[in-house]
Amino acid sequence: MSTAALATETARRRTFAVISHPDAGKSTLTEALALHARVIAEAGAIHGKAGRRATVSDWMEMEKARGISVSSTALQFEYESCVINLVDTPGHSDFSEDTYRVLTAVDAAVMLIDAAKGLEPQTLKLFQVCRHRGIPVITVINKWDRPGRAPLELLDEIVDRIGLTPTPLYLPVGSAGDFRGLLRRGPDGLPAEYIRFTRTAGGATIAPEESLAVADAAEREDEAWTTAAEESELLSATGQDHDQELFLAGHTSPVIYASAMLNFGVRQLLETLTRLAPAPGPRIDVGDRPRPVTDPFSAVVFKVQAGMDSAHRDRLAFMRIVSGEFERGMVVTHAQTGRPFATKYALTVFGRERSTVDTAYPGDVVGLVNATALAPGDTLYVERKVQFPPIPSFAPEHFATIRAASQGKYKQFRRAIDQLDAERVVQVLRNDARGDAAPVLAAVGPMQFEVVTARLHTEFSVETRLEPLAYTIARRTDAGSAGELDRQRGVEVFTRTDGVVLALFSDKWRLQYITKELPHLTLEPLVAAA
Ligand code: GDP
Repeated sequence: MSTAALATETARRRTFAVISHPDAGKSTLTEALALHARVIAEAGAIHGKAGRRATVSDWMEMEKARGISVSSTALQFEYESCVINLVDTPGHSDFSEDTYRVLTAVDAAVMLIDAAKGLEPQTLKLFQVCRHRGIPVITVINKWDRPGRAPLELLDEIVDRIGLTPTPLYLPVGSAGDFRGLLRRGPDGLPAEYIRFTRTAGGATIAPEESLAVADAAEREDEAWTTAAEESELLSATGQDHDQELFLAGHTSPVIYASAMLNFGVRQLLETLTRLAPAPGPRIDVGDRPRPVTDPFSAVVFKVQAGMDSAHRDRLAFMRIVSGEFERGMVVTHAQTGRPFATKYALTVFGRERSTVDTAYPGDVVGLVNATALAPGDTLYVERKVQFPPIPSFAPEHFATIRAASQGKYKQFRRAIDQLDAERVVQVLRNDARGDAAPVLAAVGPMQFEVVTARLHTEFSVETRLEPLAYTIARRTDAGSAGELDRQRGVEVFTRTDGVVLALFSDKWRLQYITKELPHLTLEPLVAAA
């Protein structure tokens, strides 16, 4: 493929993830987006929740039992001239490092907010990761068909709590619970168009919308229109108009009011993604040099998933392509080991659906089968050597010791822990006092522990005993400070497999006290997920 053709393929791609709190409507929005792109015939076919048709992978019993999807997958569809990659973030109330890793694979995020609830804890956490990574954020205020808060109040909350300036592209006509349509804001906040929605049965088909001229809108909707127009003016007066540069820099966020359930505002989101969201760009390597998208193939592994399919017991590594054209069957180099890796089995995975990928371009997500050597953060490339920086490990907040239930299984147990550690399923911490029989597991979310014990049971036939530890905070320290820290009450020092020395504290008061009393000790925050 010529460089020009590759550049064109790349420029039409949009890769994003939805960040939200459980129940904000992520699954519903995903269905609605796919519906608009006509990849599925009728809404309701994607995410397995009670009462809906389930197509989500059933790779672990706990998933089924809880009706949640632990797997991250990618949905690809075309919209107008664009190819859109929606990378799924696990949507359960608990979360793990996987959720955060997904955000290293996307170029933009859609922050989905429930109109009645506003910003919720998990949304805030995920937003902080977006900010940290400089990912531009589009805001969708969902469930506008139901009673909720006032439109500008929700925007104020975003300014006040996260310092992001919302710049609505559309404003709702009709208050929450009485969603009639959208006012499209033109230059200087002047109304440019009225998009009037008509309901369909259960939102199962694409919502018909009618475009009305501003003069007709005022006549038709009367006060609801006047209110929206006034709100638009108010926003302009405070400088809340879209500015592409500020959006890409992560300072402002275009806002759309929507009802994912009724498919209202979903087309507007697709348009916003295609028109405003960034196309894949160069990625900085470990030597601070950018890898241009038109360079030979390179990719970053952002997630490894084992045992997704109980029939196959396979291991899938998901990579995001950074540069070049990917062709199935090509032999790539694994930068971490220098070894070749054959890509005979390359897939796209969405829920239980798997299909073979023959070619892919920057921004696309491809699953590689039997990728035993690959771990999240690893680099693959051809021809021109490159290595991308590792994915940061997030600050763990949950700690537990794990040991084999029976002495006889010790060898398998150690091997299994090493394997899960290499896959970055959980962080493994050790110190001399505790020895190797009972290493400490450190996780961002407690569900990571369940994944560990379940996999030890099913894949390695090792029964284990997990005991939670009463630590809640980890700080990075160094060998020089380790000895003194270890002598403090409520503190224990460990070495993580990557060599980082961590001090665990029982609570934040303990940490504050020690920071104050022993200011000469090194105690640095880890990359915070919270
Ligand atoms: P997720 O946990 O974020 O994936 O949320 P779901 O998509 O499963 O939605 C949670 C609940 O909110 C479900 O009962 C949905 O039917 C409902 N829901 C989602 N979007 C809307 C919406 O736009 N309007 C209303 N009224 N309900 C919605």
